[in-house]
Amino acid sequence: MADFYCEYCGWKTTSVKLLTGANCQRHPDGASNGKHKLYEGSEKSQYTCKYCGWKANSISTLTGSSCPRHPKGGSKGKHAPAL
Ligand SMILES: [Zn+2]
Ligand SMILES: [Zn+2]
Repeated sequence: MADFYCEYCGWKTTSVKLLTGANCQRHPDGASNGKHKLYEGSEKSQYTCKYCGWKANSISTLTGSSCPRHPKGGSKGKHAPAL
């Protein structure tokens, strides 16, 4: 069975229903202000931030730190994985 990841926090689960039904601690609108979002890219050994190109070996590491080129302003949001 395939694994699914949250684009915001990297949470891994085997069910899209479960993923999109639970609150995300790293939701851009604030912790638990929204649900996890399905990461639609393929599973990779390295993930690249779509804003600044920073690389990390997991989505959770990538989205755990602020992005200097975030569209809302420097360091006002987290890195986001490119597909
Ligand atoms: Zn999440
Ligand atoms: Zn970034």
